[in-house]
Amino acid sequence: MIARVGKQNAVLIPILVLFGINMVLSAINITHWMARDNFRSFSESTASDMVQQLKPRAIAAAASLPSGATLAETRRAFDGALLSGTVVAYDLFDLDGRFILFSSLQPDGSPSSDVQIVGGRDRFSGSGPTGRYSHAEFVIPENGSDAGHLRIYIDQSNALELFYATHKNFAIISALFLAAALSLLIYVVWSRLKEQWQAESRIRHLAHYDGLTDLPKRELFFDNLSYAMSRLEDDRTVIALLCLDIDNFKQINDAMGHATGDALLKQFAERLQDNTRKSDFLCRLGGDEFAVALRGLKSAEKILPFANRLCRTLGKPYTVDGHEIATTVSIGVAMAPMDSQDAPALLKCADLALYRSKSEGRNTVRFFEDEMDVAFQRRLQLGQELKSAIDANQFVLYYQRQYDMKTGRLTGYEALVRWAHPTKGIIAPDQFIPVAEETGLIIPLSQWILHRACTDAKAWEKDRKVAINLSPLQFMAGNVVDLVVATLKRTGFPASRLELEITESLLMSNTPRVTKELGKLKQMGVHIVLDDFGTGYSSLSYLASFPFDKIKIDRSFIGNLKSNPMADVIVRAIISLGHDLDMTITAEGVETKEQEAILRSWGCDQGQGYLYGRPTAQTSAKPAGKNKAAVAYPSLSTA
Ligand code: C2E
Ligand code: CA
Ligand code: CA
Repeated sequence: MIARVGKQNAVLIPILVLFGINMVLSAINITHWMARDNFRSFSESTASDMVQQLKPRAIAAAASLPSGATLAETRRAFDGALLSGTVVAYDLFDLDGRFILFSSLQPDGSPSSDVQIVGGRDRFSGSGPTGRYSHAEFVIPENGSDAGHLRIYIDQSNALELFYATHKNFAIISALFLAAALSLLIYVVWSRLKEQWQAESRIRHLAHYDGLTDLPKRELFFDNLSYAMSRLEDDRTVIALLCLDIDNFKQINDAMGHATGDALLKQFAERLQDNTRKSDFLCRLGGDEFAVALRGLKSAEKILPFANRLCRTLGKPYTVDGHEIATTVSIGVAMAPMDSQDAPALLKCADLALYRSKSEGRNTVRFFEDEMDVAFQRRLQLGQELKSAIDANQFVLYYQRQYDMKTGRLTGYEALVRWAHPTKGIIAPDQFIPVAEETGLIIPLSQWILHRACTDAKAWEKDRKVAINLSPLQFMAGNVVDLVVATLKRTGFPASRLELEITESLLMSNTPRVTKELGKLKQMGVHIVLDDFGTGYSSLSYLASFPFDKIKIDRSFIGNLKSNPMADVIVRAIISLGHDLDMTITAEGVETKEQEAILRSWGCDQGQGYLYGRPTAQTSAKPAGKNKAAVAYPSLSTA
């Protein structure tokens, strides 16, 4: 629509140009015509003036001629009477129009033989035979009757030149004036149209290209990819579709601001362009997700080394406003025609491969396998079932003991959720917590867990604590403090016996807000625990960013004690640093007496693991006071 309006307006320009040329030519014609007209009236009036002057002299010359005068005498008499100044020639005729005599000089160098003398009247004419002369005829009387006609020629060359010079100047000035006015008009119209065209072309560009990175958008990418895929059989080539996702982009965006996030995305897109061929199709699928379609590949062999190289190159630090930003990238790859022959389905395959590379620790490349689709369908189904599981109250809490390593005293329990599925049996949290996080169901689930754990723990002995795992998503929902306050109030459970376990990934995102909320919880007397320490980014700066009450060393280090010297070094360093910061150290996944002995010798405070007991539905704690069965738990959907 916009383009049509633009084209209609564009027709204006040639019309204006033609109109302008026409105007200039008309101006020249009009001035030319005016000059001719003016010249004609001027010639007539000068001819008439001349007749007034010369007629008496001609009559006198005729009268002075002797009777029977020769032609030479007559010519001499008329030459003397008439030829002077601007009168350059004359012709004398008898009353019947017959030629009697002509001056010694004709204006065009020849006698005028075609003259029709009508007799009895003086006549004036504006232009002579060559256009530069005017002529006038008058009757010469003799003895009271007409004796003959005399025609005089007046040279108007100077007048004509003057008229034409004036006309030329006038024509030039009018043409210049018109040309200037028209140029201005064309310029105004043109610049308006140009603006419109530029806006239209920008709109057209933005419809197909991403405004931030200038990479093609999904629709254009799919058009190109579909076309390339339709030609695969003819070309006998394969296409590799790579889906790329910047790891932890959300955290970077939240922590450093959107402007930095945008600058990072731009640099990422540039680096992606620099490291692919011109013939490859690139796309920003949205957010921090990009795609590359590698075309014209003769075989699939070189794709893995290429994707690995791309993963390393794109995972190198970026510099934004002088700050170095470290990030990594996850890549999922699908191949056409092997994995799919249809562009949207191929993208889904690459996406599933990307999901796998994310869930397997990020910063890596994964190729699509059929089994991924099965896993995806399972997750999808799980997500749907999870919703009804919450309504149907199908979750239970298991508790795992935590011991004081020095005294051997039971200090408390960690609450670990299980899904008691009606047909599949007990499902471990690793299977459904990620799905609950993806679907947002983690919020009502966590509310129930907190309420249930506080209610259960209230029945335990007074010195036993309960530890609850918090999902980072709860902090994003922004209601953790309110929820804890409300739950403690509702259950009457003391804040000092509640431990909340968070992971480093939470601290990476939105640090100031999270730190503030953690601070409020700590002020209430709740203990804040840093879980799984040593995995993920393990930045020691996180330890200094918040005064944690406790650090839990990840079980992967404990399992490697004495078999991996690095694990020993790290565990000792965490214990020593934690103690310097006045934090309690708990070792997770303690399975053997030997591990316990080593940890104790290094000064570790607490232990948790199969050595002390697996998570179970029942604690060994005796209900304090009331009968446990009498405790009313809120339903999952209302907690
Ligand atoms: P986590 O917080 O690190 O929990 C400890 C996990 O280690 C538990 O797995 C526990 O069964 C396991 N474990 C304990 N001792 C040993 C041991 O000696 N050896 C080995 N190999 N493993 C041991 P679980 O219960 O399957 O929980 C897995 C993860 O699921 C938890 O890791 C936690 O991140 C998450 N999770 C569990 N319950 C909840 C919950 O209520 N809310 C949230 N948001 N996450 C939860
Ligand atoms: Ca935990
Ligand atoms: Ca843990």
